[in-house]
Amino acid sequence: MSGKKYCPQCRTAHLTIKDYDGEEVDICRQCGGVWFEKADLDALVAAKCQRTDYGDYVADLGPSLDYSNRECPDCSHGMQIYHLLNDYHVDIDVCRACDGAWVARDTVSKVVKSAAIKHAIQDMNQSTSWKTWVFEALLRMPVEYNVKPRITPWVTIALVIINSLIFISYGFDLHATNMIFENFALAPAVVQEGNGLWSFITATFLHGSMLHLAGNMYFLWLTGDNLEDALGHGRFLAIYLVCGILAGTISVLANLGSPIPSVGASGAIAGLFGMYLLWFPKASMTFMFVVWQKKLAVMWYFGIWLGLNFFGMSMGQGGVDYWAHIGGFAVGLTIGAALRKWVWTRNPLLAHLAGPEVQVKR
Ligand SMILES: [Zn+2]
Ligand SMILES: [Zn+2]
Repeated sequence: MSGKKYCPQCRTAHLTIKDYDGEEVDICRQCGGVWFEKADLDALVAAKCQRTDYGDYVADLGPSLDYSNRECPDCSHGMQIYHLLNDYHVDIDVCRACDGAWVARDTVSKVVKSAAIKHAIQDMNQSTSWKTWVFEALLRMPVEYNVKPRITPWVTIALVIINSLIFISYGFDLHATNMIFENFALAPAVVQEGNGLWSFITATFLHGSMLHLAGNMYFLWLTGDNLEDALGHGRFLAIYLVCGILAGTISVLANLGSPIPSVGASGAIAGLFGMYLLWFPKASMTFMFVVWQKKLAVMWYFGIWLGLNFFGMSMGQGGVDYWAHIGGFAVGLTIGAALRKWVWTRNPLLAHLAGPEVQVKR
């Protein structure tokens, strides 16, 4: 043996030994592909996730998809193509004679991150159960399936507590409620005269009933934890408030001259929906048609929600600030689109999870 290995992709270029996060691998300087000798790929993936239950990729691969036209650099056997994971269709070449694995350049980072991806997909692929059915049948609230946040969402928790405490302080006393709404709710006729401009913010912390509060806080919790993880605490708070202010502004512009005051966090939360949809497109929410519970892609879930808002508005159903919802959602989509590249660069796992390689069961 000469000891020199040829790149299975380029064939003429030699592989050179390189340290890849503590593992010695063979890399091709020409095409950027990486050759993992027997068990090295598993060792790297296991080291990356600091767990012991993920280190069996090469041994546990499912059926081969096809024969590869690349040859093993170590023993010259023809290799076979496999999906890295059942639900993650990233292709690798494996030599069945020596269990070495060849990973092309554009998939190296996806493969290295695959332990975390595997874990996240397991969470996203969970199926509905009698527990989720009872939950939604009783509370009429969806169940979320998404990657778990890595941080404690302190801002989201604080917002839920503050909104609840504020409601408790006045909500059970009609006289106090009227006084608070008169001063701090968002009334177009008042703010368009330049008065009470603080109400663009204060109104987002007020709610009209226990049910109104509970519904809003549930959706704030559902979407806020993942978004706060993606953005960081401070930025999440700033964007939440901006969504609330702009949703209120759109509501005022759509209802100029109206003395009817508007309250609620739903405009700001609708903004969160827009960002959530763009940054977590593979997440699911359950939806219940009478008694049939179904996991829906967030695009469908928020699409139905948006449709119901337009429907309610066209039917002239009162008591809901439809324009704050629609406007907030549009603001969230705009911010979400503007920041998506930044968010995905900051959180490569989210970018990988959003890709076409991820197979979500619904
Ligand atoms: Zn090469
Ligand atoms: Zn081999």
